[in-house]
Amino acid sequence: MADMTKTVLVIDDSSTLREEILKIVRDASLFDTYLEASDGLDGFKVLLNNKVDLVLCDLEMPRMDGFRFLSMMRSREEFHDLPVIMLTSREDRDTKIRGLEQGASDYVTKPFDPGELAARVRVQLKVKGLQDELKRSNELLRKLSITDPLTHLHNRRHLMEMVEREFQRTSRKGGHLSLVMLDIDYFKKINDTYGHQEGDQVLAILAEIVTKRLRSYDMAARYGGEEFVLLLPETPLSEAQAIAERLRVEVQDHPFSGRLQHLIMTISLGVATYPSSRVESIDSLFRQADEALYRAKQGGRNRVELMAGAGEEKSAPHDSQVLVTD
Ligand code: GH3
Ligand code: MG
Ligand code: MG
Ligand code: MG
Repeated sequence: MADMTKTVLVIDDSSTLREEILKIVRDASLFDTYLEASDGLDGFKVLLNNKVDLVLCDLEMPRMDGFRFLSMMRSREEFHDLPVIMLTSREDRDTKIRGLEQGASDYVTKPFDPGELAARVRVQLKVKGLQDELKRSNELLRKLSITDPLTHLHNRRHLMEMVEREFQRTSRKGGHLSLVMLDIDYFKKINDTYGHQEGDQVLAILAEIVTKRLRSYDMAARYGGEEFVLLLPETPLSEAQAIAERLRVEVQDHPFSGRLQHLIMTISLGVATYPSSRVESIDSLFRQADEALYRAKQGGRNRVELMAGAGEEKSAPHDSQVLVTD
């Protein structure tokens, strides 16, 4: 839940005016915290050190005036959405326009009408609240659109985007990109024995085990029903093999509880790496991992197999060093 307390910052070189404004906003009960500063520079420092929800800012002040304060504020990404109400003299039309053009949200004229000032503050808070809500729901939608709902891993569509990106990056910068494809052994039997709902739970538990294993720049996705893909940037084949093997053991040793307490789950894994003698495209990266997975199944399951031709890669002195010319 977001922090619901509201903070206002009043910037004016006249302490009398600051008092007057603070009294108005206090009386309207619009904020929980009230901060003040006597010029733009001090105001900016206060902004940097506090979470402020709205600024009321005078135009004419010594050291740094309202315009310079505005342009300094708008140059910082974190303050882009912060509402600023400028305090101007009544007939100063050009100044008002200039202020609005430079990013002020609104203005109020001196001497202040308490009702109008409070109303304008309320409107800006409302707009800001709606903007924040929109941003939050956009972020949520984005997250939902890239996530598999059962396992909370990335979904297949997002995996393909990430593979594309990592593949390009590896082509450009060198190094190795590894891909591990893994599939639960005899999952149909798990479903048959415990029921589909427990089967779902097993998938979620596997996703948790996988997620814990990953380094921060790795990525795990649900590729199909009970099939998963790990994308391992900057990881040579030997390292990917070690990660796959550790994961295999961890899954085999996982102690289930409750209705699943007698279950022993195992997985089969296929590993491939780009670049290598048989992997020169995203397609061949997937194909080699898939074929290796198939061999792991054929070979008895609960095992890790490497892409075809892996022996040639492994005979290179050091996978991670770029000494070898192919
Ligand atoms: P293998 O060792 O050869 O991989 O055998 P398997 O039984 O795991 O493989 P198979 O591909 O024959 O069966 C996969 C099963 O996974 C069939 C399908 O009903 C089940 N499944 C796929 N998606 C889900 C899901 O979201 N939830 C549950 N509970 N089961 C699923
Ligand atoms: Mg002034
Ligand atoms: Mg399976
Ligand atoms: Mg399968």
